Parts: sequence; C-alpha cells; structure tokens
Amino acid sequence: MVRGVLFDLDGTLGDHEASVTAALTAWLPSLGVTCSAATVELWEEIAERHLVAWGRREVTFSEQRRRRLRDFLPAVGVAYEWTALDEVFAGYLTHYEAGYQAYDDAAAAVAAVASAGPAVAVLTNGSAVQQRGKLTRMGFHDIATVFTPDDLGVAKPDPDAFRLACERWGLEPGSVLSVGDNHAFDVLAARAAGLRAVHLDRAGTGPAEERQRIATLRELGAYL
Ligand SMILES: [Mg+2]
Repeated sequence: MVRGVLFDLDGTLGDHEASVTAALTAWLPSLGVTCSAATVELWEEIAERHLVAWGRREVTFSEQRRRRLRDFLPAVGVAYEWTALDEVFAGYLTHYEAGYQAYDDAAAAVAAVASAGPAVAVLTNGSAVQQRGKLTRMGFHDIATVFTPDDLGVAKPDPDAFRLACERWGLEPGSVLSVGDNHAFDVLAARAAGLRAVHLDRAGTGPAEERQRIATLRELGAYL
C-alpha cells in the first residue's frame, strides 16, 4: 500500500526547461547576446555540472551560481568582473523565477493523490528557499513537506537522500512511491533505497526497458 508519494520538482511538477529558455531569451540580450537553442543547451550543461558540486556540499549555492557564470560568460563572449557575478546572476534569476510555471497536469495529480489518501511531499535537488518559493508561486500551498540537500545534507542520486527523507517523513521506504522525470535520480536511486518508483517520461525518450513509466501525471492513479 502506498502511504506517501514523493514528487520531484523541476521537470516533474514545474516546467524548469521552459522557464530557463524564457529567462535566457529575455535576459541574454541585456548582455548583448542572442539566445539560441545551443546557448540554452550550454547554459543547462554548465548548470548541471556545478549543481552536482553543490549537491555534494563542495560549494555553497551562491558559489555554484558564480561558477556557472565564470564558465558561461566567456563561452558566449561576455567579459565580466568577478565582483559583479552575483548581480549578473540576479538578472537571470528574476526572469527564471517570474516565469516558473507548473505543468498543466501537476495540480490535479497532487490533488488526486491527496484525495486518494497518501501523503504528498517533494524531494528536490534545488535549494530549500528557491524550491519552496517555486511551490508557493505555483499554488502548491498544501505541500508542506519539502526535502532538499540543504536539510538532508545529501542529494539525489545518492540513495541516502531517499532514505533520510522517508525517515524524517516517518514512512517506511517500501510504502513510498517516488515520481520524477530523471530516471537515474528519481527512479533508480529511489529503488536502491527501497522505495517504489515510477518514471515520468514526458518526452518519451526512455529508457524503453523501464516498465514503471508514465507519459503524464494523469496516469499516476494506476500506481496508488
Ligand atoms: Mg527533475
């Protein structure tokens, strides 16, 4: 029996990718750069790399943002001052946060889980302040339980992130269902910690051999 559903946030409840693209499209021209698909891809690749270092507690959240810019700005031909990086990042962040939106299947899915009985929580690799802010702006006021590397001291794909989240939540891992868009982070790592897991494969990119796979959160009911 499923007693709790642990949702990932970015790419699962919230459309992180669309927000990044919209933010870069709005922000880059202020630096004299035109936004292209390649620029977005570069930004994401650099972000992923430095977020991993933050998840491992090697750098602070602010420092990983500065490191992202120190890689990104020269790559798009923008000169910068080391001391101005926080201010530069704030320009991007304003657009990113303002444009952050829930997927159109997210609110109904969370409500359906809650009315079916299981508790709802979020386990995300973002910072606690930023991710709670996103949930509030998207209208998920009923999700009070949010686990982040800030609170847990460990990030996905370390299975300990799931173990600790379940422990603090007071639920047996075997009674918790993890739902997320990243197969390695949200599915394989969750199973390694003893949870059940379903892969939200919105783009249909696989892995095809994953049997617990849904294309939208509307299909989640079959797993409760
Ligand atoms: Mg995700």
